[in-house]
Amino acid sequence: MKALVLTEIEKMEVQDIKEPKPLPKEVKIQMKYVGICGTDKHLYQGLPGSATATPPIVLGHENSGIVVEAGHLVDSLKVGDRVTIDPNIPCLHCRYCHEGRIHLCENLEAAGVTRNGGMEEFVTVPERCVYKIPDTLSYKAAAMTEPVSCVVHGFQELEIKQHYKTLVIGDGFVGQLFISLLKARNVGEIYVSGHNEKKIPLLKEIGADVVFDPEKEQLNETFDVIIECVGRPNTQEQAIQMAARGGQILMFGVGDPKTEIQVNAYDIYFKELIIKGAFINPHVMEDAISILDHQVINVEKLITHELTLEEVEAVLSGENQEKITKAVVKISE
Ligand SMILES: [Zn+2]
Ligand SMILES: [Zn+2]
Repeated sequence: MKALVLTEIEKMEVQDIKEPKPLPKEVKIQMKYVGICGTDKHLYQGLPGSATATPPIVLGHENSGIVVEAGHLVDSLKVGDRVTIDPNIPCLHCRYCHEGRIHLCENLEAAGVTRNGGMEEFVTVPERCVYKIPDTLSYKAAAMTEPVSCVVHGFQELEIKQHYKTLVIGDGFVGQLFISLLKARNVGEIYVSGHNEKKIPLLKEIGADVVFDPEKEQLNETFDVIIECVGRPNTQEQAIQMAARGGQILMFGVGDPKTEIQVNAYDIYFKELIIKGAFINPHVMEDAISILDHQVINVEKLITHELTLEEVEAVLSGENQEKITKAVVKISE
């Protein structure tokens, strides 16, 4: 079968590899769509995602497909089921798993990170990571269940009230998902900071009230909720600086593990700031599927590019310098 293999750091190759065989509690899925995400760029460069990827490995943790074979101990899925995959596989026996905080698992495995993911024709994954999708949900949209689930988890970390003034830092795909969720909660004022003027009509259509470019205009406002979706030191520092008293700051953007930022500790005390992280997607896959199926987020509209496996490396390496907000790869009809 055809697979895009990360053969070494910063090197990929489309190869003909052996089809995987499902273990007794695994299913084999024919891939339909796989999303490409910022984490894939990090993994390609040898930086960690939810874990570290060791080549040779097939990336792809945003997946949809159809079950084509089930191991003999699988009972919740059958051949022909349309599905999406939660790529994260907690061990279920460490101290975090025992208390239900499975995303903090000390032995976390992940499809597309520590084991082969969806950038190949067939993938095998444990039954418990596989979720059936409604017939009304397209495979293309269903491939976005994982990123949407991560955003839902981040959203759940915040206390959101309708009268709160909110700021989303970053106008990329993840920022757009957060804007859509804030809008769905009827939050009164949604500000978005970004640099790409061309995106403004779409951002307003999905719910932004004010879009501004912090490099061009200084905004003298503070916010009750700030969601940082970029992951760079300047935007992370800006997120804390722009918080109102009692403000909540969600650090969602994934930065370089070695990066540090400057924080005014007195502000944390005096403003009683709440600074939170959000890591992956515990217990929210079903919510994400429902959100996509009911078009609370119209995700197909946010996908800007559909690629082939052959085109992926140029995007991950940066050789393709097109402005790609969100790309998916079509693996099969
Ligand atoms: Zn991702
Ligand atoms: Zn665990």
